Amino acid sequence: MRVLISIGERNFPRDVAEGLEALAEVIYLSAREKGYWEALREAVALVAGGERIDEEFLDRAPRLRLVARFGVGYDNVDVEACTRRGVYVTHTPGVLSGAVADLTWGLILSLARGLPGADRFVRERWAQGLERLPFGFDLEGKTLGIIGLGRIGAEVARRAQGFGVRVLYHDVVRKPELEEAYGVEYAPLEELLRASDIVSIHVPLLPSTERLIGERELRMMKPTALLINTSRGRVIDQRALLKALREGWIKGAGLDVYEEEPIPLDDPLLRLENVVLTPHIGSATRETRRRMAEACALNVKAVLEGRRPPNLVPEQRIDDR
Ligand code: NAD
Repeated sequence: MRVLISIGERNFPRDVAEGLEALAEVIYLSAREKGYWEALREAVALVAGGERIDEEFLDRAPRLRLVARFGVGYDNVDVEACTRRGVYVTHTPGVLSGAVADLTWGLILSLARGLPGADRFVRERWAQGLERLPFGFDLEGKTLGIIGLGRIGAEVARRAQGFGVRVLYHDVVRKPELEEAYGVEYAPLEELLRASDIVSIHVPLLPSTERLIGERELRMMKPTALLINTSRGRVIDQRALLKALREGWIKGAGLDVYEEEPIPLDDPLLRLENVVLTPHIGSATRETRRRMAEACALNVKAVLEGRRPPNLVPEQRIDDR
């Protein structure tokens, strides 16, 4: 049996792979590397990154029984096509929520206090003593609107308590236990957008969330508000966001994800001063990436031993009910 790992040794350390080697031949090759498609033909399990896994892909993987997505979002995987062919799809829920919530707060603080500009100022101009930096703003007493109060959204809400921020949330499911635990208040989307000083998005990318935030929604936000996105780029209409940032409908944005990744160097978003941008690093800490690899390995091991993997995506958990 063969296991193909497409996410590299940095993400899936050799010692984690060793646990699988007694059961299968383990091959590391990324989708861009020579030999990947040959290796895939014989693979029973694939540890996958963001590569598109659709019918055409599955045609080239006749022995595949498992797509173990390294990450919690699986919008790059056609789950229905996998299910039709008897291919399990797993992901790594929970183990990365804290890391993404930390980055979310990092983006909020960077914008509230102008950290990228302050860093450049110290390196380039402070000693000349001629100019002053603009003031930032306090977080205490402000309103944070969380769209999607799932695993990551809840961790963002938990951290908000420490900053003295009032939290509104919008979700398709009401979460009374989280309302109780973190003092968060439910609001319809429009109300949340109008009332929040900071709006942070934590929904999965689905047909119903694609372009959830477009021109109409951006125009509802306060001109002083910040928009943070660490979910998926396509949840925001990026052209409308560019217009909103240029024309001052909102004050700033902190983005970890983009409609196209990597975002092209000539994208006009990269020339704006009122944005803080990171390269899809929500889960990129040593501890979290290791936990993600270990979770993937447990799923692979289960399938190699003929068991159901523990972290099936919800669409494949239907017979649990
Ligand atoms: P989750 O499933 O626990 O939470 C998602 C929440 O969104 C759920 O509560 C769900 O009810 C809600 N939701 C769904 N559709 C909605 C809608 N139309 N309006 C409002 N709420 C809606 O998922 P999670 O583990 O918190 O992860 C969320 C997403 O974060 C992932 O799907 C992934 O795309 C993204 N993510 C990004 C990074 C990164 O590196 N930037 C890392 C991990 C996850």
